[in-house]
Amino acid sequence: MPGKFPQLVERSHVKEFLDSFDIVLTDCDGVLWCANAPIGKANEALNQLRALGKKIFYVTNNSSKSREEYAQKCKKLGFIADKEEIVCTAYVTALYLKQKNFNKKVYIVGASGITQELDNVGIAHTGIEPEPFSGDVFDLKDTLKLDPEVGAVTVGLDPYISFPKVMRAASYLSDPDCLFIATNTDEKFPLSSSNLVMPGAGAIVKCVETVAERSPVVMGKPSVKMFSSIRDQYQLDPSRTLMIGDRCNTDILFGKNCGLHTMVVLSGVTEMKDLEAWAASSDEEKHKLLADYYLPQLDDLIPLLE
Ligand SMILES: [Mg+2]
Repeated sequence: MPGKFPQLVERSHVKEFLDSFDIVLTDCDGVLWCANAPIGKANEALNQLRALGKKIFYVTNNSSKSREEYAQKCKKLGFIADKEEIVCTAYVTALYLKQKNFNKKVYIVGASGITQELDNVGIAHTGIEPEPFSGDVFDLKDTLKLDPEVGAVTVGLDPYISFPKVMRAASYLSDPDCLFIATNTDEKFPLSSSNLVMPGAGAIVKCVETVAERSPVVMGKPSVKMFSSIRDQYQLDPSRTLMIGDRCNTDILFGKNCGLHTMVVLSGVTEMKDLEAWAASSDEEKHKLLADYYLPQLDDLIPLLE
C-alpha cells in the first residue's frame, strides 16, 4: 500500500488547519533560516502565527548554541523569541544530566553551547578547546592523559574534531559506567545554493561510536526527550501541537513519535522527490516520514493568513 501524501496547506482549508493547533514547535535550520539569513519572510510568517495566539517553541537539534544565544539569533533575524521558548539539544543534555543527579565531570566533544548550559545547572566539564595533532599517533599512548573525574562523554557538532579528541572520548567510554550522550545525529546541514556538503553532529557521533563500540543516548529529534522537556512544564497537549520541520527523519518522525500534527517545508533538506518516493513506497518505515501537511516554504502561509 502506498503512503498518504502530505496535504498542501491551501486557502480552502486554512481555517481548519489553523484551528487544529494552539502550539507550534518549529525546527530552525532549513525552516526559519539557512546559516545566518532568514528563509524568505519566515520571520513574518511565524510572528503572524504568534499574533493569532499560537504559542511558539523553537526546537533545534543544533548543539552549538545555548538557549540564550539562540534567542539572540532569533531576534537578530526578526523572529520574536524568549529564552524560555528555545529547546536546543545543549539545554536538553544539561537537563538530562541534572535529572540524573550527575555529579562528576563531562568530557565534551562539541562547542560552547553545551558548556554554557552545563554551567547553568552547575555541572563541571572539560574538552571544548581545539586539540590539534601532528606526528606519530602511537606517541599519544604516552602523552595523552585522562581526567579521573570524567563520568560522562557528550558528543555534538565540534568544528575542532581531531584524532586525540576521538581517542580521549573512546577511552573514557571504555569504562561501562561512563555515560555516553549524543546531542543529535543529523547527517549534514542544509546549505542552500551551494554544492558544498557540511557535516552535521551525526558524523562525529558515528566516529566516536565506532571507536567506543557503544551506542549513545540521543537527546535530539526524533527522540521524545525534546518534547518531554517542555510538555510537563507548560502542560502542552500533543493533539493541539503542530511540529514544523524540513528534515523528515528527525523533525517529522519526532512529531509522530510525540503524537503531534506535522508539517514539512521544502526549504531545507527534504525535496518534493523525496515525498513522492516515500509515498510511492510500500515500506511502512518510509510512510512514517510523511508529514500531514506540506508547504514549499514557511512564508507561503502569509497570503493564506490574510
Ligand atoms: Mg532543519
